[in-house]
Amino acid sequence: MQQIKVVFGDITAVEVDVIVNAANSSLMGGGGVDGAIHRAAGPALAAECWEIVQRQGKLPTGEAIITGAGNIPVKHIIHTVGPIWRGGHADEPALLASCYRNSLLLADRYELESIAFPNISTGIYGYPPELAADIALTAVRETLPQLLHIKRVLFVCFNQENVKLYENGLQSC
Ligand code: ADP
Repeated sequence: MQQIKVVFGDITAVEVDVIVNAANSSLMGGGGVDGAIHRAAGPALAAECWEIVQRQGKLPTGEAIITGAGNIPVKHIIHTVGPIWRGGHADEPALLASCYRNSLLLADRYELESIAFPNISTGIYGYPPELAADIALTAVRETLPQLLHIKRVLFVCFNQENVKLYENGLQSC
């Protein structure tokens, strides 16, 4: 039986096999959770990201790639690019759902058993937290039955508003 949980805190400090980064398409680090992950991982992560972009170009919104984790004590980091909120009519819901689905599928392909997500797009990219939580929970619930290895999904929230949204969403199923 797979388990979905919500926790409050810093995603660089959770005990899982893989953490997901809300990256930007250049994979070059930035503010928010992306900055925190790059700072904690150290320069090896930026070097690996740079090589990936040289090889395959910028990462399109909704897609995901996987790297090592540098100094963070997890096995891997998955980097996905969330949509910038433009009012809701620029395919944002489908793109945000793709971030969660593609990250889960990639983690499962690597035979990882536990994964932690931040609240993708709800910081600098401006996605309304309530709508984003609903999409995240729905996408994860819809994808989990297809997975062979993932046993535990953590939503790591950096503020109490998101903790409440996810706790309410988890209860109403
Ligand atoms: P985006 O550009 O996708 O909006 P942000 O990093 O700005 O990405 O924000 C995404 C979410 O990650 C926000 O809810 C923000 O509060 C949260 N966040 C920021 N730092 C951390 C961290 N260290 N651990 C977990 N979540 C974080």
